[in-house]
Amino acid sequence: LVEVRGLEKSFGDNRVLQGVDFAADAGTTTVLIGPSGSGKTTILRSLNVLEVPDTGTVRIDDVEVDFAALPHRAKAARARTSRLRSQSGMVFQSHQLFPHKTVLENVIEGPVQVQRRPREDAVADARRLLDQVGLSEKADQHPFELSGGQQQRVGIARALALKPKVVLFDEPTSALDPELVGEVLDVIKDLATEGWTTVIVTHEIRFAEQVADQVLFLDGGVVVERGTSAQVIGDPAQERTRQFLKRIL
Ligand code: ATP
Repeated sequence: LVEVRGLEKSFGDNRVLQGVDFAADAGTTTVLIGPSGSGKTTILRSLNVLEVPDTGTVRIDDVEVDFAALPHRAKAARARTSRLRSQSGMVFQSHQLFPHKTVLENVIEGPVQVQRRPREDAVADARRLLDQVGLSEKADQHPFELSGGQQQRVGIARALALKPKVVLFDEPTSALDPELVGEVLDVIKDLATEGWTTVIVTHEIRFAEQVADQVLFLDGGVVVERGTSAQVIGDPAQERTRQFLKRIL
């Protein structure tokens, strides 16, 4: 479902991605781990074209963009990339909910305003999603009335409401108080069992171990090691992976 080939990205002299390749099947969970600055977030942002790679190809389902061959005219390039962007939904480190809208209004905003779906359909979907993330009774409250963990769960429902082919999580629990981390990870775990395809950047190695079908260990902008969580986390083959895990476990 997701295929990334030869992804490269520099910021000035900083070669952040130096040829990243990976693929993820539909319905699977891919977890990216690695030291700070290794390029994990840049990969996610490239999948969602929040960052435009210098070169390489990203395919999500039937939409493929070869970044080396983007048209020079900005408008044509945008048209090419916006279809790819709509294939994925991003959940950020901290929620970016509209403060003056209710929880329900936050969840239906994208489907109604961007996707032009009928409001009643969007509301029915949103209620189902809020139920799924355990927040059906909060539908009419405002974000400031919720805990950080609840706000983050609304952020997840909002990403799912757009019916993306793949859901991208960028360190979804790193801005939360420790006691709120579990409830958000539980919701993400449920998505995996319900057949969503997810790509997750996280420093929660124990969570990665439980949820991942595939773990990629990144260092210096390349995939150093990949495999099941039992291989990469349980029995790493590469010295760099072992050192990293020793530091953070
Ligand atoms: P972390 O675990 O700390 O989030 P990461 O592995 O996700 O790290 P990235 O966020 O992808 O790493 O960043 C990789 C490198 O790219 C870092 O050196 C960072 O400073 C640099 N970088 C990221 N975004 C930009 C940007 N917009 N402009 C300049 N440099 C950037």
